Amino acid sequence: MVEWIQGRVIGRRDWSDKLFSLQVQADLPAYQAGQFTRLALDLAGERLARAYSFVNSPSSDHHEFLLVRVQGGRLSPALGQLAAGDTLWLAPQASGFLTESEIPVGGRLWLLATGTGIGPFLSLLSDGAVARRFERLVLVHGVREGAELVYPELIAQYARQWGTRFAYQPLVTREPWPDALPMRIPQALAEGTLCRLLGISLDPAQDRVLLCGNPDMVADSLATLETLGFARHRRRAPGQVMMENYWSPASG
Ligand code: NAP
Repeated sequence: MVEWIQGRVIGRRDWSDKLFSLQVQADLPAYQAGQFTRLALDLAGERLARAYSFVNSPSSDHHEFLLVRVQGGRLSPALGQLAAGDTLWLAPQASGFLTESEIPVGGRLWLLATGTGIGPFLSLLSDGAVARRFERLVLVHGVREGAELVYPELIAQYARQWGTRFAYQPLVTREPWPDALPMRIPQALAEGTLCRLLGISLDPAQDRVLLCGNPDMVADSLATLETLGFARHRRRAPGQVMMENYWSPASG
Protein backbone atom coordinates (compact mmCIF):
# COMPACT_ATOMS: atom_id res chain seq x y z
CA MET A 1 0.00 0.00 0.00
CA VAL A 2 1.36 3.44 -0.94
CA GLU A 3 1.48 5.80 2.04
CA TRP A 4 0.47 8.95 0.18
CA ILE A 5 1.76 12.28 1.48
CA GLN A 6 -0.55 15.25 1.49
CA GLY A 7 0.75 18.36 -0.25
CA ARG A 8 -0.60 21.88 -0.51
CA VAL A 9 -0.51 24.06 -3.62
CA ILE A 10 1.26 27.32 -2.77
CA GLY A 11 1.23 28.84 -6.25
CA ARG A 12 0.69 28.27 -9.94
CA ARG A 13 1.75 29.81 -13.21
CA ASP A 14 -0.18 29.51 -16.45
CA TRP A 15 1.97 29.53 -19.57
CA SER A 16 -0.85 28.98 -22.07
CA ASP A 17 -4.46 27.81 -21.98
CA LYS A 18 -3.27 24.20 -21.54
CA LEU A 19 0.19 24.45 -19.98
CA PHE A 20 0.74 25.32 -16.32
CA SER A 21 3.12 24.87 -13.38
CA LEU A 22 2.13 24.02 -9.82
CA GLN A 23 4.25 24.88 -6.79
CA VAL A 24 3.62 22.48 -3.95
CA GLN A 25 4.64 22.29 -0.32
CA ALA A 26 4.93 18.69 0.96
CA ASP A 27 7.17 16.90 3.39
CA LEU A 28 8.78 14.41 0.99
CA PRO A 29 11.75 12.10 1.52
CA ALA A 30 14.93 13.00 -0.40
CA TYR A 31 14.93 12.65 -4.19
CA GLN A 32 17.40 13.36 -6.97
CA ALA A 33 17.30 16.04 -9.64
CA GLY A 34 15.73 14.62 -12.82
CA GLN A 35 13.42 12.18 -11.01
CA PHE A 36 9.64 12.01 -11.01
CA THR A 37 6.97 11.19 -8.48
CA ARG A 38 3.23 10.59 -8.75
CA LEU A 39 0.58 13.23 -8.12
CA ALA A 40 -2.92 12.11 -7.20
CA LEU A 41 -6.39 13.44 -6.53
CA ASP A 42 -9.47 11.71 -5.20
CA LEU A 43 -11.94 11.85 -8.07
CA ALA A 44 -15.32 10.10 -8.14
CA GLY A 45 -14.37 7.87 -5.22
CA GLU A 46 -11.06 6.83 -6.73
CA ARG A 47 -7.49 8.01 -6.07
CA LEU A 48 -6.24 8.78 -9.56
CA ALA A 49 -2.46 9.15 -9.96
CA ARG A 50 -0.01 9.98 -12.77
CA ALA A 51 3.76 10.41 -12.92
CA TYR A 52 5.14 13.97 -13.07
CA SER A 53 8.77 15.13 -12.94
CA PHE A 54 10.14 17.56 -10.43
CA VAL A 55 11.16 20.76 -12.21
CA ASN A 56 12.95 22.16 -9.15
CA SER A 57 16.32 21.37 -7.66
CA PRO A 58 15.93 18.99 -4.68
CA SER A 59 17.41 21.76 -2.49
CA SER A 60 14.46 24.05 -3.27
CA ASP A 61 12.06 24.95 -0.43
CA HIS A 62 9.11 23.73 -2.49
CA HIS A 63 8.39 21.16 -5.21
CA GLU A 64 7.38 22.26 -8.70
CA PHE A 65 5.69 20.42 -11.56
CA LEU A 66 5.00 21.38 -15.19
CA LEU A 67 1.78 19.96 -16.58
CA VAL A 68 -0.29 19.95 -19.73
CA ARG A 69 -4.08 19.67 -19.59
CA VAL A 70 -4.77 16.61 -21.69
CA GLN A 71 -8.00 16.94 -23.63
CA GLY A 72 -10.31 14.14 -22.54
CA GLY A 73 -7.94 13.20 -19.71
CA ARG A 74 -9.26 12.63 -16.18
CA LEU A 75 -6.49 13.77 -13.85
CA SER A 76 -4.68 16.61 -15.64
CA PRO A 77 -7.82 18.79 -16.13
CA ALA A 78 -8.56 18.38 -12.39
CA LEU A 79 -4.97 19.25 -11.47
CA GLY A 80 -5.39 22.24 -13.78
CA GLN A 81 -8.21 23.53 -11.54
CA LEU A 82 -6.02 23.64 -8.41
CA ALA A 83 -5.25 26.99 -6.82
CA ALA A 84 -3.15 28.13 -3.86
CA GLY A 85 -4.42 26.48 -0.67
CA ASP A 86 -5.82 23.36 -2.38
CA THR A 87 -4.46 19.96 -1.42
CA LEU A 88 -3.30 16.97 -3.47
CA TRP A 89 -1.50 13.70 -2.82
CA LEU A 90 2.12 12.88 -3.63
CA ALA A 91 3.72 9.42 -3.72
CA PRO A 92 6.61 9.23 -1.25
CA GLN A 93 9.01 7.38 -3.54
CA ALA A 94 10.60 9.26 -6.44
CA SER A 95 11.77 7.25 -9.48
CA GLY A 96 13.61 7.71 -12.74
CA PHE A 97 17.12 7.38 -14.14
CA LEU A 98 17.62 10.76 -15.82
CA THR A 99 19.86 11.63 -12.89
CA GLU A 100 23.40 12.97 -12.72
CA SER A 101 24.90 9.75 -11.39
CA GLU A 102 23.45 7.72 -14.30
CA ILE A 103 24.74 9.99 -17.09
CA PRO A 104 27.85 8.48 -18.69
CA VAL A 105 31.12 10.41 -18.53
CA GLY A 106 31.63 12.83 -21.41
CA GLY A 107 32.59 16.36 -22.39
CA ARG A 108 29.32 17.92 -23.61
CA LEU A 109 25.77 17.29 -22.51
CA TRP A 110 22.81 17.77 -24.87
CA LEU A 111 19.39 17.96 -23.25
CA LEU A 112 16.73 17.54 -25.96
CA ALA A 113 13.10 17.95 -24.90
CA THR A 114 9.66 18.54 -26.32
CA GLY A 115 6.77 20.06 -24.38
CA THR A 116 6.67 19.29 -20.66
CA GLY A 117 9.65 16.95 -21.15
CA ILE A 118 11.88 19.92 -20.36
CA GLY A 119 10.91 19.54 -16.66
CA PRO A 120 13.58 17.03 -15.55
CA PHE A 121 16.26 18.92 -17.50
CA LEU A 122 15.48 22.14 -15.62
CA SER A 123 15.76 20.18 -12.37
CA LEU A 124 19.16 18.78 -13.43
CA LEU A 125 20.44 22.20 -14.49
CA SER A 126 19.17 23.94 -11.35
CA ASP A 127 20.79 21.30 -9.16
CA GLY A 128 24.20 22.27 -10.56
CA ALA A 129 25.93 18.85 -10.42
CA VAL A 130 25.77 18.23 -14.19
CA ALA A 131 26.84 21.81 -14.86
CA ARG A 132 29.96 21.24 -12.77
CA ARG A 133 30.74 17.98 -14.61
CA PHE A 134 30.31 18.93 -18.29
CA GLU A 135 32.36 21.48 -20.22
CA ARG A 136 29.37 22.45 -22.33
CA LEU A 137 25.61 22.23 -21.81
CA VAL A 138 23.10 22.46 -24.65
CA LEU A 139 19.39 22.77 -23.84
CA VAL A 140 17.05 22.29 -26.81
CA HIS A 141 13.29 22.74 -26.41
CA GLY A 142 10.78 21.87 -29.14
CA VAL A 143 7.22 23.14 -28.79
CA ARG A 144 4.22 23.82 -30.98
CA GLU A 145 3.75 27.51 -30.05
CA GLY A 146 6.05 30.18 -28.63
CA ALA A 147 4.03 30.57 -25.41
CA GLU A 148 5.07 27.00 -24.54
CA LEU A 149 8.73 28.03 -24.24
CA VAL A 150 8.49 27.87 -20.46
CA TYR A 151 10.73 29.25 -17.70
CA PRO A 152 12.50 31.94 -19.78
CA GLU A 153 13.77 33.73 -16.65
CA LEU A 154 15.33 30.56 -15.26
CA ILE A 155 16.98 29.79 -18.61
CA ALA A 156 18.31 33.37 -18.80
CA GLN A 157 19.76 32.84 -15.33
CA TYR A 158 21.62 29.71 -16.50
CA ALA A 159 23.01 31.73 -19.41
CA ARG A 160 24.26 34.45 -17.03
CA GLN A 161 25.69 31.84 -14.66
CA TRP A 162 27.53 29.69 -17.21
CA GLY A 163 28.14 32.13 -20.09
CA THR A 164 29.37 30.45 -23.28
CA ARG A 165 29.42 27.02 -21.60
CA PHE A 166 25.62 27.06 -21.86
CA ALA A 167 23.51 27.21 -25.03
CA TYR A 168 19.73 27.25 -25.37
CA GLN A 169 17.95 26.63 -28.65
CA PRO A 170 14.15 26.76 -28.96
CA LEU A 171 12.29 25.12 -31.85
CA VAL A 172 8.72 26.26 -32.55
CA THR A 173 6.85 24.25 -35.16
CA ARG A 174 3.42 25.81 -35.56
CA GLU A 175 4.06 29.55 -35.75
CA PRO A 176 7.00 31.80 -36.59
CA TRP A 177 8.88 32.74 -33.41
CA PRO A 178 11.94 34.97 -32.95
CA ASP A 179 15.24 33.04 -32.52
CA ALA A 180 13.45 29.67 -32.79
CA LEU A 181 14.08 27.06 -35.48
CA PRO A 182 10.87 26.20 -37.38
CA MET A 183 11.37 22.43 -37.34
CA ARG A 184 11.21 19.28 -35.23
CA ILE A 185 14.22 18.08 -33.22
CA PRO A 186 15.03 14.92 -35.28
CA GLN A 187 15.06 17.00 -38.48
CA ALA A 188 17.31 19.62 -36.87
CA LEU A 189 19.68 16.81 -35.85
CA ALA A 190 19.57 14.96 -39.19
CA GLU A 191 20.11 18.05 -41.34
CA GLY A 192 22.89 19.36 -39.08
CA THR A 193 20.94 22.59 -38.44
CA LEU A 194 21.45 22.52 -34.66
CA CYS A 195 25.15 21.79 -34.92
CA ARG A 196 25.70 24.56 -37.49
CA LEU A 197 23.79 27.08 -35.41
CA LEU A 198 25.60 26.21 -32.19
CA GLY A 199 28.97 25.80 -33.89
CA ILE A 200 29.56 22.31 -32.45
CA SER A 201 29.53 18.88 -34.01
CA LEU A 202 27.85 15.81 -32.57
CA ASP A 203 30.58 13.35 -31.72
CA PRO A 204 29.87 10.08 -29.86
CA ALA A 205 33.36 10.26 -28.32
CA GLN A 206 32.49 13.38 -26.35
CA ASP A 207 28.78 14.10 -26.53
CA ARG A 208 26.15 12.65 -24.21
CA VAL A 209 22.48 13.12 -25.12
CA LEU A 210 19.37 13.00 -22.94
CA LEU A 211 15.97 12.81 -24.68
CA CYS A 212 12.68 13.51 -22.95
CA GLY A 213 9.17 14.24 -24.20
CA ASN A 214 6.93 13.13 -27.02
CA PRO A 215 7.55 9.36 -27.45
CA ASP A 216 7.78 9.75 -31.24
CA MET A 217 10.37 12.53 -30.89
CA VAL A 218 12.38 10.27 -28.56
CA ALA A 219 12.25 7.33 -31.01
CA ASP A 220 12.97 9.48 -34.10
CA SER A 221 15.84 11.33 -32.40
CA LEU A 222 17.43 8.08 -31.24
CA ALA A 223 17.18 6.69 -34.78
CA THR A 224 18.85 9.83 -36.16
CA LEU A 225 21.58 9.75 -33.51
CA GLU A 226 22.25 6.08 -34.30
CA THR A 227 23.05 7.04 -37.89
CA LEU A 228 25.69 9.39 -36.42
CA GLY A 229 27.31 6.55 -34.44
CA PHE A 230 25.51 7.03 -31.11
CA ALA A 231 24.00 4.15 -29.10
CA ARG A 232 21.47 3.98 -26.33
CA HIS A 233 23.13 3.91 -22.89
CA ARG A 234 22.36 1.01 -20.60
CA ARG A 235 24.07 0.12 -17.36
CA ARG A 236 25.21 -3.21 -18.85
CA ALA A 237 25.98 -1.82 -22.30
CA PRO A 238 27.29 1.73 -22.02
CA GLY A 239 26.34 4.16 -24.79
CA GLN A 240 25.79 7.88 -25.14
CA VAL A 241 22.02 8.41 -25.28
CA MET A 242 19.57 8.24 -22.36
CA MET A 243 15.86 8.73 -22.72
CA GLU A 244 12.51 8.97 -21.04
CA ASN A 245 9.20 8.68 -22.86
CA TYR A 246 7.48 11.39 -20.94
CA TRP A 247 3.95 10.21 -21.46
CA SER A 248 1.92 7.60 -23.27
CA PRO A 249 -1.11 8.33 -25.45
CA ALA A 250 -3.34 6.64 -22.82
CA SER A 251 -2.28 8.84 -19.89
CA GLY A 252 -3.90 12.12 -19.01
P1 NAP B 1 3.58 17.60 -28.89
O1 NAP B 1 2.64 17.07 -29.90
O2 NAP B 1 4.37 16.62 -28.10
O3 NAP B 1 4.52 18.64 -29.58
C1 NAP B 1 5.65 19.25 -29.00
C2 NAP B 1 6.68 19.36 -30.08
O4 NAP B 1 7.08 18.03 -30.47
C3 NAP B 1 6.13 20.05 -31.34
O5 NAP B 1 7.14 20.88 -31.85
C4 NAP B 1 5.86 18.88 -32.27
O6 NAP B 1 5.97 19.22 -33.64
C5 NAP B 1 6.98 17.94 -31.89
N1 NAP B 1 6.74 16.58 -32.33
C6 NAP B 1 5.57 15.92 -32.42
N2 NAP B 1 5.78 14.68 -32.92
C7 NAP B 1 7.11 14.58 -33.15
C8 NAP B 1 7.93 13.57 -33.69
N3 NAP B 1 7.45 12.41 -34.13
N4 NAP B 1 9.26 13.81 -33.77
C9 NAP B 1 9.74 14.97 -33.38
N5 NAP B 1 9.02 16.00 -32.90
C10 NAP B 1 7.70 15.79 -32.78
O7 NAP B 1 2.81 18.68 -28.04
P2 NAP B 1 2.51 18.95 -26.52
O8 NAP B 1 1.70 20.20 -26.57
O9 NAP B 1 3.71 18.89 -25.69
O10 NAP B 1 1.59 17.73 -26.18
C11 NAP B 1 0.49 17.47 -26.99
C12 NAP B 1 -0.43 16.51 -26.36
O11 NAP B 1 0.29 15.35 -25.94
C13 NAP B 1 -1.04 17.03 -25.09
O12 NAP B 1 -2.09 17.92 -25.30
C14 NAP B 1 -1.44 15.72 -24.49
O13 NAP B 1 -2.58 15.24 -25.11
C15 NAP B 1 -0.28 14.82 -24.81
N6 NAP B 1 0.65 14.85 -23.63
C16 NAP B 1 0.32 14.12 -22.57
C17 NAP B 1 1.09 14.18 -21.44
C18 NAP B 1 0.71 13.39 -20.25
O14 NAP B 1 1.24 13.59 -19.18
N7 NAP B 1 -0.20 12.47 -20.38
C19 NAP B 1 2.26 14.95 -21.40
C20 NAP B 1 2.58 15.70 -22.52
C21 NAP B 1 1.76 15.63 -23.64
P3 NAP B 1 4.66 19.40 -34.57
O15 NAP B 1 4.06 20.72 -34.21
O16 NAP B 1 5.25 19.36 -35.95
O17 NAP B 1 3.73 18.25 -34.30
